[in-house]
Amino acid sequence: MKNRILFLMAAFAALFNINAQNESDTKVILITLDGFRWQELFTGADSLLIGNKDYVHDAGMLKKAFWRDTSKERRVALMPFFWNQVEKMGQIHGNRNLGSKVDLTNSMWFSYPGYNEILTGTADDNRIKSNEKIPNPNSTVLERYNNTDQGRGKVAAFGSWDVFPFIINEERSGVPVNAGFESATENLSDREIFLNQLQQQIPSPWGSVRLDAFTHHYALEHMKKEHPKLVYISYGETDDFAHDGDYQAYLKSANNTDGLIKEIWEFTQQDEFYKDQTVFLITTDHGRGTQPLDTWRSHGSDIKGAGAVWAIVFGKDIKPNGEIEREEQLYSNQLAPTILKMLGMPISKEIEGEPIKL
Ligand SMILES: [Zn+2]
Repeated sequence: MKNRILFLMAAFAALFNINAQNESDTKVILITLDGFRWQELFTGADSLLIGNKDYVHDAGMLKKAFWRDTSKERRVALMPFFWNQVEKMGQIHGNRNLGSKVDLTNSMWFSYPGYNEILTGTADDNRIKSNEKIPNPNSTVLERYNNTDQGRGKVAAFGSWDVFPFIINEERSGVPVNAGFESATENLSDREIFLNQLQQQIPSPWGSVRLDAFTHHYALEHMKKEHPKLVYISYGETDDFAHDGDYQAYLKSANNTDGLIKEIWEFTQQDEFYKDQTVFLITTDHGRGTQPLDTWRSHGSDIKGAGAVWAIVFGKDIKPNGEIEREEQLYSNQLAPTILKMLGMPISKEIEGEPIKL
């Protein structure tokens, strides 16, 4: 009898080991901040812009919130979660002042080509060359994962910009995308009912992009209810406030988004499904200009420096290397294969990027 119990225990142990090796239990949360510059991420508020009447209407308030003597203090003031917590537990790539570079491989340097590159692992300059609402001919990692047994129905995307249903090709991929001014539709929680109501009653400054708090809370409510294993959240305000030439709103939005991401992180750490099992990847779809000064508002292939981006990774099995202070060259097309690897998926040959060694 005793032997039989020992045998069964050994058999169970073997079974669980096999499962642990074959199927990744890693969950991935990919987050983007549209057009947020590496300059503000690594050095905080820009001295040439923060007191500039062309771009700021209350410089006193803005300086009190975000101006400090050193760039290290300024970046902590702007993004306290990133620089107090994420730097200790993860990796922050893209400080070009220290030699760490992250670049786009597409040559367009605007949103749809940027998101296509991040989500598919391959730039497609021949076909993805506008922001028009064209169903993406390429497969994103969201679609690939949704087409596997372990990922089917376990993927969800949330975006502030109303082009995401096309970038992710919601119709072909079957990946649910809540973007633009869409409401939550299924199995609604009380908070989702309230969000749907508020979204009608808090006008967005823009026609095709909603305020990020809606995108954020739709994502969070969905994660609480459905526990997807792969989640994409695309915040959009930073790009639109920059196009508007409103540096005050751009900084406040970046600071706010840092807090939203902290909230997602803290939710995952008190939820049994996500706790200690989840990796966060955070990046941007393009950079912006610096010279002449007014090009901070713009991006695109004619704006010098707009192909320079950044990438942050933290969570399960990520080495806490902090801010990368050595020479390196990463590319945005490496994020998709990195995600596939984390999920235990094959990286097919047509994907150009190589997984990042983390
Ligand atoms: Zn833009």
